[in-house]
Amino acid sequence: MDAPFSLAMALRWLQGFHDRVLAQEIQLTELDAAIGDADHSTNMARGVRAVIAQLEADPPATLEALFRGAGMALVRSVGGASGPLYGTFFLRCAAAAGPTTELNASRLIAVLGNGLVGIAERGHAAVGDKTMLDALAPALEALEACLASGAPMVPAAAAARAGAAARRAGTGPLLARRGRASYLGERSIGPIDPGATSMALLIEALAAAVA
Ligand code: ADP
Ligand code: MG
Repeated sequence: MDAPFSLAMALRWLQGFHDRVLAQEIQLTELDAAIGDADHSTNMARGVRAVIAQLEADPPATLEALFRGAGMALVRSVGGASGPLYGTFFLRCAAAAGPTTELNASRLIAVLGNGLVGIAERGHAAVGDKTMLDALAPALEALEACLASGAPMVPAAAAARAGAAARRAGTGPLLARRGRASYLGERSIGPIDPGATSMALLIEALAAAVA
């Protein structure tokens, strides 16, 4: 990897996620209206606003503090399932990052991977269950494959973004096995998952932040 993942990149990442969630409010509402209760954009908008407010109120000096602040803000502010799940992701990233301001490629993968495991454990979800994991898992696989082969951060993150976007779109034909959409049974087949869509925005923001 060329330059390490830095505190400045992480701040750009979360700001970019905030901006993308607010820009996609209508899309996220429509997707959750189809197989849920139409509140995913409301939940996520409240969450990303709380994250930015937290980071401004208490500027973090380490990646651990940044991820913990973001995770706590999400858990505190969001009522729906997505808040605790995204919150757990960032809290697990904080635990794995530790009090540092930079992560090299293998540490970055370990940190994000710990976040993924947190979502899977908290949500009792696996890849293929038509959830946010279906966008996160392929993104991390692509990132890991690229960085392991010695690719620089920017193309590796771009590959992660492409992987998340493709698998987000691929959630349509899946049967939902977790969350509110699973109550619909076979009727959950067809629409794209809203949480996979917001997760693809998180990965898109990561790719933009390191570029
Ligand atoms: P709620 O379902 O409480 O209304 P949201 O609408 O904000 O919450 O979020 C719904 C999204 O959360 C789903 O599209 C899915 O991606 C994700 N999700 C829901 N339950 C789980 C779970 N158990 N594990 C992983 N992701 C989940
Ligand atoms: Mg909902």
